[in-house]
Amino acid sequence: MADVLRPARRGLMLILSSPSGAGKSTLTRLLSQNENNLDLSISVTTRQRRSSEIDGVHYRFIDRASFDQMRQHNDLLEWAEVHGNGYGTPRRDVETSLREGRDVLFDIDWQGTQQIVKKAREDVVTIFILPPSMAELRSRLVRRAEDAPEVIAKRLQNARDEIARWEKYDYVIVNEDVEAAYASVRAILTAERLKRTRATGLGEFVERLLAEPLP
Ligand code: 5GP
Repeated sequence: MADVLRPARRGLMLILSSPSGAGKSTLTRLLSQNENNLDLSISVTTRQRRSSEIDGVHYRFIDRASFDQMRQHNDLLEWAEVHGNGYGTPRRDVETSLREGRDVLFDIDWQGTQQIVKKAREDVVTIFILPPSMAELRSRLVRRAEDAPEVIAKRLQNARDEIARWEKYDYVIVNEDVEAAYASVRAILTAERLKRTRATGLGEFVERLLAEPLP
């Protein structure tokens, strides 16, 4: 379709939440590597960098003073304390992506999700990823071997609180098999992108269509 005929679309914010270890990071990575027109929001965090993580790719690792300063200056679209660390979404990059017509993907917890939903319900799509069982969640955290045992115990405890929020989400996916879960997330994204209310240029397009003489 020629560009002039393609109705303009408002960017959407796709939020994935889940307890640590439910496979959300893998899904986020697959989406940001394979989907067009989807920018990953890189959060800031005060937590320690894991050995597998790269500053500026997985997170921007900052100290508490910088985090507090960003909060005070309203530089964060949302923020939360998770497992005793500060996490937040820098506002500027998200606004730039949306303004330029790109969608934005977030890997944030339920607290941040609520804040963004409150600000922009029409532009937000939320997905919650559940592990198939608590035993599987635990073994994924242990297999990852990146957190100390006491950190893993804390994360499992917090997982219950996180899972209890499942009903606040638009979609819920049980991640038994990552390929299947990924296919579900893609299907959601495709359908949500096609929603009539997001196609801001549709009215104009239909008007032009109806103005055409009948062949
Ligand atoms: P992790 O330390 O395992 O990378 O992340 C812990 C939790 O913090 C995850 O549930 C993750 O989704 C959440 N999280 C990561 N970045 C943000 C953020 O910018 N805001 C909020 N509210 N939560 C975040």
